[in-house]
Amino acid sequence: MTTVTEIFASRVFDDKVMRARLPGKVYRSLRETIDRGMPLDQNLANAVAEAMCAWAVENGATHFTHWFQPLTGITAEKHDGFLNPAPDGRVIMELTGKELIQGEPDASSFPSGGLRATFEARGYTAWDPSSYAFIKEKTLCIPTAFCSYGGEALDKKTPLLRSMEALNRQALRILRLFGGSEVKRVVTNVGPEQEYFLVDREMYLKRRDLIYTGRTLFGAKAPKGQELEDHYFGAIKPRVQAYMEDLNEELWKLGVLAKTEHNEVAPAQHELAPIYSSTNVATDHNQLTMEIMKKVARRHGLVCLLHEKPFAGVNGSGKHNNWSMSTDTGENLLSPGETPYENARFLLFLVAVIKAVDDYQDLLRLAVATAGNDHRLGANEAPPAVISIFLGDELSAVLSAIETDSPYAGAEKKTLKLGVDSLPRFTRDTTDRNRTSPFAFTGNKFEFRMVGSSDSIACANVMINASVAEALRQFADALEAADNFDDKLHALIREQIIAHKRIIFNGNGYDDAWIREATTERGLLNLRTTADALPRLLEKKNMDMLTGLGVFSESELRSRYEIQLENYVRTVRIEALTMADMARKEIIPAVAAYAAALAEGVGAKKSADPSLACAYETKLIRKLSCLTDCADAATETVEKAVTALDGIHDVTAESCHVRDELLPRMAELRAVCDEAETLTASSYWPFPTYGDLLFGV
Ligand code: ADP
Ligand code: MG
Repeated sequence: MTTVTEIFASRVFDDKVMRARLPGKVYRSLRETIDRGMPLDQNLANAVAEAMCAWAVENGATHFTHWFQPLTGITAEKHDGFLNPAPDGRVIMELTGKELIQGEPDASSFPSGGLRATFEARGYTAWDPSSYAFIKEKTLCIPTAFCSYGGEALDKKTPLLRSMEALNRQALRILRLFGGSEVKRVVTNVGPEQEYFLVDREMYLKRRDLIYTGRTLFGAKAPKGQELEDHYFGAIKPRVQAYMEDLNEELWKLGVLAKTEHNEVAPAQHELAPIYSSTNVATDHNQLTMEIMKKVARRHGLVCLLHEKPFAGVNGSGKHNNWSMSTDTGENLLSPGETPYENARFLLFLVAVIKAVDDYQDLLRLAVATAGNDHRLGANEAPPAVISIFLGDELSAVLSAIETDSPYAGAEKKTLKLGVDSLPRFTRDTTDRNRTSPFAFTGNKFEFRMVGSSDSIACANVMINASVAEALRQFADALEAADNFDDKLHALIREQIIAHKRIIFNGNGYDDAWIREATTERGLLNLRTTADALPRLLEKKNMDMLTGLGVFSESELRSRYEIQLENYVRTVRIEALTMADMARKEIIPAVAAYAAALAEGVGAKKSADPSLACAYETKLIRKLSCLTDCADAATETVEKAVTALDGIHDVTAESCHVRDELLPRMAELRAVCDEAETLTASSYWPFPTYGDLLFGV
C-alpha cells in the first residue's frame, strides 16, 4: 500500500520536481517568477518546457493542454500531442518554450459579451507559472490565463491575478509605513469549503430535471427532511465513505490539500475542505476538485450534485470562502499580534476589510449572483442576501472602545492608544450563531459564506481583493501624508469604525427583524436576485474603483455584465422548458392515467353492485382531474412566458422578465404538480421522489 505522502502531488510539476530536474539557474529564475510575480526570462522557457515534457512523458502523458477558465464557469482544455516526427521516420515527444508560454485556442465559441468581434475570433492563452502544471489522465495541464488579441480578459484567472496584484501593491504601501521593509510581497489566501449532494445514479437518470438543470424542478417534500438534524456530522455511510476515500486519493495526486470531510445538514449532503493556499492556486484547485468530484461519483454509481439548490425544502449548498492576507515572511495580516505595533497594524487591516465590505456590498453580492444561488440567498437558510460582518462580541467591544475613546471593558480596563498599548487578548468566538453571517471574522481570517457551490470562487475573490485594495489605497494616501503617523493612525481607525460600523452585526442573520433593521435603519442593501444585483456592476463608483486599480477595463466590465445576466436568463429558460416538457409528457399523463384507472375501477365495481357509492374514488377522480386541468393551464402560462422572453432583445429587460414573470409562473406550475404527486399512487408516479433521492444512497 502506498502512503499519502508518496502519492501526494505525484501528478504535479511542483517545486520538488522543478528543483530536481531544472538546471540551478533556471530553477532560481522560475522560483523568482512564481514567488514574486516577476516576468519569466523567455530564454528559460525552453529549458522549463523540456523538463516538464520529459517528466510528463515519464508519468504516462501523451498530450498537453493549456488549461483555462473561460466565462462559462467551467474549465476548458484543448489537447495537443507531444508527438513530433523525427528525421529518421520515428517520433519524438516534445514541448517547446513557445508552446508552454502561449497557446491559441479557437476562441470564437467562448462567451465574450461582445468583446471579440467575429473578425477577431482568436484569443490566446498565457502560462500562469504561479499555479503548478499537473497531469490529468494522460494530459499535461498547464494553467493559463485567456485573453483576446486586444488584451481583454476572457477568463476568470486574469482579473483574479490583477486583483491580487492590486492588493499586494497597496498592502506593501501600508507595511512600509509600519516599517516592514523586509516584506516583498503580500498574497491573499483562500480555503474554500465545498458542499455537495450525492444521489444514486440510476435514480438520477430517471429525472430529466436533474439531467438538464442540475436541480429538481418538481418534487413534493418527503415525510422526513433535515428536521431531526441527524445527518450533520453523523456517521458516514459505507458507500459515501468509499467515495470520499477515492476522491481524496485523486485530489492528493493532483496536489490538492483535501483535508476534512463530513456530512452536512441536509440528508445526502456532504462537505469537503482543503487546507488553504494562495487565492490563485485555491481557485484552480477548487475547479479541479469540482471536476474530480463528479468524475469519481460515476465510478461509485453516484452522481455528485453541485447545484446551489438541488432540492426545495432542505438546505442548499454553498462554498465557504475563508480569506486572509499574508506576507512572504509568513505573517498573517489578519492575526492579532503581540506588540502594540502589530496590534495597530492588525486593526488597520481589519478596518480596511470592514470598510471594503461596507463600501462594496453590492460588488460582493453580485459576484456570487447566479440563477442557482438566488434560491439560497435570502431564502431563509444559509446567508441572507443582505451583507453584514460578524466580528464576535469581544472584538466588537474593542472597536467600540476605540470609537468612543472609552476604557475597554476587558482585563485591563483602560483606554486604548493605538501603536502604544497592547490589545487585550480576545478569544476566538466559536458560538454557533456566527454561522448565519455572510461575512464572519473567525480569529485570523474572514469567511465569506455567500459563494454558490457550483460557482468558481474567482469572482468573489476578485471583488474582495479589489475592495480591500481600494480601502488600503485610501488609508495609505492618508497616512503617507500625515505629520504624526501614530496620531493619524489612531484617528483614521476611529473615523473608519464610526463610518462603517453599520455593517457589523453579531446577531442572527436569518431573522426577519434583522432584515428590516438592516434595510431601514442601517441602509444596507438587500439585492434579492441576480436581476437586482447585476446592474450595480455598471455603477460609477464601482466602475471607477475596478478600473482605477487596473482589475478590469470598462469594456471588460460591460462584457461581464452581459455574460452573467445572459447566463441567468438562459439558465432559467432551460429550466422553464424542462418543466413544461416534464409536465406535459410525464406528470400530466401519469396523473390522468391514475384517474382513468380509478374511473375504470368505479365502472367495474358499479357493474358488480350498482348500489355502491364509490365515494373515495369519485372524490379523488374529481380532485385529480381538476389538478390535471390546472397543470395544463399552468404549463401553458409557462410556455407563454418563455415565448414572451424570446421576443425581448435586451438582456437587462430579459432578466427582469425572468424575475417578474417566468420564475413566478414556474413556481405556480410546480405547486400544482407537487400537489398532484401527493395524491397519485406511487406506482403511477413517473420518476423517483424526494424520499427516494434523499435517502436512496
Ligand atoms: P471551520 O470553518 O469549520 O471552523 P477552519 O476554520 O479550520 O474550519 O477551516 C476552514 C477553512 O479555512 C479550511 O479550508 C482552512 O484551511 C481555511 N483556513 C484556515 N486558516 C486560514 C487562513 N489564514 N486563510 C485562509 N484560509 C484559512
Ligand atoms: Mg467554516
